[in-house]
Amino acid sequence: RAFDFADMKHRGVARQSGEPYILHPLAVASYVAELALDAHGVAAALLHDTVEDTKTSAAEIAREFGPAASGIVEGVTKFTQVETAPENGADPPLPKILSAEEYAERKRFQRLATLRKLVLAMQDDPRVLIVKLADRLHNLRTLDSMKDRQRERTSRETLDVYGPLAGRAGLYAIKNELEDLAFSYLEPITFARIQAQIAAAVAKRRNWAPRVCERIQRELRRRGVCAVVNWCVKHPLRAYYEAGKEGIKVGQLTDLLAFRVLVTEKADCYRALSVIHGKWRPIKYDDYIAHAKSNGYQSFHTLVFNLEGHDAKLHIRTHEMHRATQHGIAEYWLERAARGEYVDGSSAHGMRALVGWVSEFVELDGELGEDPTEFMKTIERDYFKDQIFIQTPKGDTLELPEGATVLDAAYKIHTDIGDHTVGATIQSADQYGNLRQRVVGPEYLLSRGAVVHVRTSRDVQPDPSWLGIVQTEYARIKINRTLRLLQRQGKAPGPDEPSPVRRVDGPLVHHSGKVARAALARCCCPCPGDKLLGVAQHGNLVTLHRDCCRHLQTTLARRRANGDPFAEPIPAEWSQINVESYRAPLLISGQDHRGLMQEISTTASQMGLNVAHSNANANTSRYRAAIAITLDIPRNISLSFVFGRLRKVPGVLRVWRDLGKGCFENPS
Ligand code: MN
Repeated sequence: RAFDFADMKHRGVARQSGEPYILHPLAVASYVAELALDAHGVAAALLHDTVEDTKTSAAEIAREFGPAASGIVEGVTKFTQVETAPENGADPPLPKILSAEEYAERKRFQRLATLRKLVLAMQDDPRVLIVKLADRLHNLRTLDSMKDRQRERTSRETLDVYGPLAGRAGLYAIKNELEDLAFSYLEPITFARIQAQIAAAVAKRRNWAPRVCERIQRELRRRGVCAVVNWCVKHPLRAYYEAGKEGIKVGQLTDLLAFRVLVTEKADCYRALSVIHGKWRPIKYDDYIAHAKSNGYQSFHTLVFNLEGHDAKLHIRTHEMHRATQHGIAEYWLERAARGEYVDGSSAHGMRALVGWVSEFVELDGELGEDPTEFMKTIERDYFKDQIFIQTPKGDTLELPEGATVLDAAYKIHTDIGDHTVGATIQSADQYGNLRQRVVGPEYLLSRGAVVHVRTSRDVQPDPSWLGIVQTEYARIKINRTLRLLQRQGKAPGPDEPSPVRRVDGPLVHHSGKVARAALARCCCPCPGDKLLGVAQHGNLVTLHRDCCRHLQTTLARRRANGDPFAEPIPAEWSQINVESYRAPLLISGQDHRGLMQEISTTASQMGLNVAHSNANANTSRYRAAIAITLDIPRNISLSFVFGRLRKVPGVLRVWRDLGKGCFENPS
């Protein structure tokens, strides 16, 4: 009935390609049907453009097809309207006055508005997201017939908004296809090059891969584990990002080919893993079965040494877990339908648990006011970054972005807990699998899988230095709110009294009276010339921070509060300390020509520097590359020398020090 209705409404209308319009909603409906969305979802997909493009009213759809389908259509329509609203849609000619950055910023702002609307529409019914993603996918598949500018806008928006959202919903099949299509339109030459490199690398392994599948299957069968083993190739965009991050060629990625070991029961995953690890030494191993990702993804990932001649990446999971990686949140309806249950609009309620982060968005949205950039920043920082999962003592899983601290976790649990946090007891397994327990402060960086028991005290309240500890916008917003409240009640903390700093000559002396063993702090990475302050640690160790470091200040403040005898900072001069090298996090902007990261790494190694971390992001704007690189520099080489050399690398526009690391404010 929905098809007949839509067919009638769109009759006589053609798409830009010249095809009858109805082929578009039909394709979208087929796709959501493949994802096993329920009948209301499929009907809504067929009807999704009728309100926007024909003279159909929402009331008419509700009357004909009920509130569930019409609700979804309405959500999707709201979206389309944001996308094509005059200030968003038509790309105005670029005024000469706007710089490329300003222009990019404005576009970003508009995309933000889109994302925000999408998230809010999803709150009403998550099926809106699935239909919208399918709509976007079909539009991208048929983008050839569109104008260049429209194609670029659609592709860019896909990479920024729809791809990450599909990932959050666990819809990896859509995510990969969306992102690769967008990549191929935006950077056709790079895309073709990456595809060719992948094809060449796969061709080289064409005998190896089936041999590995056969071997794994044989070893498993011998030990009574029945498994299907096959292999898959990394998608071009992922391969491009990951190779860029490591500064290597796509063909050199160890996990360009990954093997899937699919078993029937969850217990078989563990059996298969032990057989495989017993046979081949694991190099790197991740357990997403005990710690499922918040989008529901479950699998063991292991990289093993020398399997039939090469290191091999294996994903071990059940058939059911595998199906969920393709269907993501749509799996919900599939399960219900398989049980023969009637699925109506109210079942969206169960979905909400799966996408629980939506309600957090909505809460934040109220706090953030009208400025969508704030909202975007929050989403990018808190939700689209790599996530870690930690456990509460009750066994709940919390999801936090990488780099999150105890204080972030505390606010995530509850604002009232966050506001009174003194620290936490952390339980985690060390590399040998032994359980370790330790008491840490609020600034402690969490690692994946740790069990975090937050300790609170009624005597504690937030102070502005907490803003420097937290990583998530969510916690920052909560702290700011409490601070404003305290100020209104006249309970605001006074300005920090700087502790008197004594000057000393001669060698650096630990509070114990021993000559200090100096180490440079990794949080703020002091470089020669920076003002230093030392923190006394166990033995004769003194860690040296930049004097503006927030970790330094919070550590000392906590020690003072606890009456710790090592609460006083130790003033230090560079001439007093004996370290072989120092670490400098740098930011480099450049023309995004290929191989820039490679040339920077080569220049660094020619100077005898070690690259501790690097991260290239060619994606912030089409023509610029942003590279973050952390170098270990021998003490006898000055930072300005390093800068001089890096600035001479062709394509490099600016080099500067990443002073944000660990500091409240950036000294000039
Ligand atoms: Mn459409």
